[in-house]
Amino acid sequence: MEKGLLVVISGPSGTGKGTICRELLKRVDATLSISMTTRAPRPGEKEGRHYYFTDRERFEAHARAGGFFEHAEVYGERYGTPKEPALEALAKGRDVILEIDTQGAMQVREAYPEGVFIFVVPPSLAELKRRIEKRGGESPEKIALRLSKAEGEMAYREKYDYAVVNDKLARAVDDVRAIIRAEHLKVESNRRKKDAAGTVDH
Ligand code: 5GP
Repeated sequence: MEKGLLVVISGPSGTGKGTICRELLKRVDATLSISMTTRAPRPGEKEGRHYYFTDRERFEAHARAGGFFEHAEVYGERYGTPKEPALEALAKGRDVILEIDTQGAMQVREAYPEGVFIFVVPPSLAELKRRIEKRGGESPEKIALRLSKAEGEMAYREKYDYAVVNDKLARAVDDVRAIIRAEHLKVESNRRKKDAAGTVDH
């Protein structure tokens, strides 16, 4: 059976990656990987739906046991992609979407170069600030940290296969769908070429 496609979506905090992923899942048949994190739930967030919320001790134990596909420290908290569910779904031919930060994406790139790497770009930094503040649930210090990191993160765009500007949500979702569709149509031998050559420039 043909393996599913691993789609990695990153971008600075507040770019609307999460919203794009949710909308995308209404339109494509794929599995969204649920990450584990040590950060506290935001208002409305549900255990097992948005994240598996845990403490640092359990997170580190899971990491030591090799239970993560990738994991990283982001804004002072730990985040990781549980390995088994993602690999199992891919083996069954399902497409899997990872919404993770740039450090995690680069780890996945090393381990799984045949994945598709998409960077979501905010329309502007001013718009990004507005979106992060509107979301609520975080201290002014944490908001400032997210914003200062956003600028630095934009440099990672070059390391991805595709960049999608989230100006209009429907358009951005259409763009991601088009990328997934095109990747499925890609000639298999070319996919293997990418796999063999690797795509990371050190
Ligand atoms: P948030 O706290 O806003 O939900 O997420 C903060 C950042 O962590 C976002 O950039 C998000 O993409 C990233 N993130 C979420 N889950 C994971 C994960 O499993 N691994 C990594 N490396 N980053 C993650």
